[in-house]
Amino acid sequence: MTNDAWGQVREELIKRVGENNYTTWIEPLRLSHLKNGVARFEVPTTFFGDWVSRNFSDHIRGQLAVAGAPVDRVEFTVAAQTAANPTAAKSAQRSAQKMNGTREAIPDELTGAQLETRFTFDSFVVGKPNELAHAAARRVAEGGPVTFNPLFLYGGVGLGKTHLMHAMVHELKQSRPDLRVLYLSAEQFMYRFVQALRDKQIMNFKELFRSVDVLMVDDVQFIAGKDSTQEEFFHTFNALVDNNKQIVLSADRAPGEIKDLEERIRSRLQSGLVVDLHPTDYELRLGILQAKLDHYAGQYRGLTLAPGVLEFLAHRITTNVRVLEGALMRLFAFASLVGREINLDLVQECLSDILRSSDKRLTIEEIQRKVAEHYNVRLSDMIGPKRLRTIARPRQVAMYLSKQMTSRSLPEIGRRFGGRDHTTIMHGIRKIEELMAADGQMADDVQLLKRLLQS
Ligand code: ADP
Ligand code: MG
Repeated sequence: MTNDAWGQVREELIKRVGENNYTTWIEPLRLSHLKNGVARFEVPTTFFGDWVSRNFSDHIRGQLAVAGAPVDRVEFTVAAQTAANPTAAKSAQRSAQKMNGTREAIPDELTGAQLETRFTFDSFVVGKPNELAHAAARRVAEGGPVTFNPLFLYGGVGLGKTHLMHAMVHELKQSRPDLRVLYLSAEQFMYRFVQALRDKQIMNFKELFRSVDVLMVDDVQFIAGKDSTQEEFFHTFNALVDNNKQIVLSADRAPGEIKDLEERIRSRLQSGLVVDLHPTDYELRLGILQAKLDHYAGQYRGLTLAPGVLEFLAHRITTNVRVLEGALMRLFAFASLVGREINLDLVQECLSDILRSSDKRLTIEEIQRKVAEHYNVRLSDMIGPKRLRTIARPRQVAMYLSKQMTSRSLPEIGRRFGGRDHTTIMHGIRKIEELMAADGQMADDVQLLKRLLQS
């Protein structure tokens, strides 16, 4: 077949792939070889070839067959930039220019409103609940060889995921200024993707995301259920991993717990290192408050802090670090306005709303509802007599959580589970403890439910 015949095939392809796709992807192709069941085309860049191969090679094969030149395989090679091949050379040049353009554009995006300067490793307080996540983040921020890909950080709201990610960007800029690091939220990823689709800039979009050395996407649970964004994310992800580029992701839950996520994406997300930020403990909260205090000390000179205030806050505000920080900030602002010492009286006056809401006790009823929802059983079955394992097991989980997360006694719990005896409750709790020790799935389930109930 001559290039003329290929010309005819191309005419057909316009109809199949549409004019836009045709101009962008098919027109620049040059047929360089057609025999032994192989059609080979020259393309301006590797990326270009990958894209055409993934999206249009079936069409190309089909039309070649129609034209009487069936092939088994369609291959793409990057064209040498010689005078003999001016079209491809020009195209490659254009592509390279575009690439350079995006290289310059990335740092701009990184210095935008997205990066918080105070989110550094220095200001991150490390304790038992976050030490693994911190260590993994530190490792990646060294910018050494990629060892785990992706790094997947997850944990509840306000536990420091975004802080750690920003810290990694700051650190990487120091340790590896040569690397192109792109940090954005999953929402921004989707927004840009949709915009690129609309403006017919999808090629630029792809090149931008494939040209970075480290890609960090915050709150990836956001893309669940958004099918075309998921799909695009998946391709970006694979392209980067294949090129041994580091990916860091965060989410509010583990990959396995994100609903409406395609199975292949889920398993990809799990294929690196998955680490969670556990809910804070008293020690960590106190550490964070102390670190914050040093920070405010310079800002509010002359204010005094009575003993016991930090301990009280660390004890009472257990939900999330953001609320804890907000409380301390409000105390300092208030105290400096009214010129008073920061003591427990002032805390009560100034933080009554926060203290009240963290006072809100979790009820057994709420636990039963959450557990029933999670296991897809009826709320009434939590209380009812059914002994079927698919119902009895969730009921025992709810008993276990009621004991763990409320201050109710066993007889009180028994009454709320349809008037069961306290020994039945005790038995249920033991059973769950055993299962948790023996079975990772059960332990994960209980962990997840706890987190859901705490938030
Ligand atoms: P997430 O992204 O997990 O919802 P953030 O990273 O936004 O949470 O953290 C919420 C706030 O709590 C931020 O101001 C952050 O600096 C602070 N914070 C969380 N964990 C820590 C920590 N271990 N040390 C210091 N500050 C922390
Ligand atoms: Mg965040």
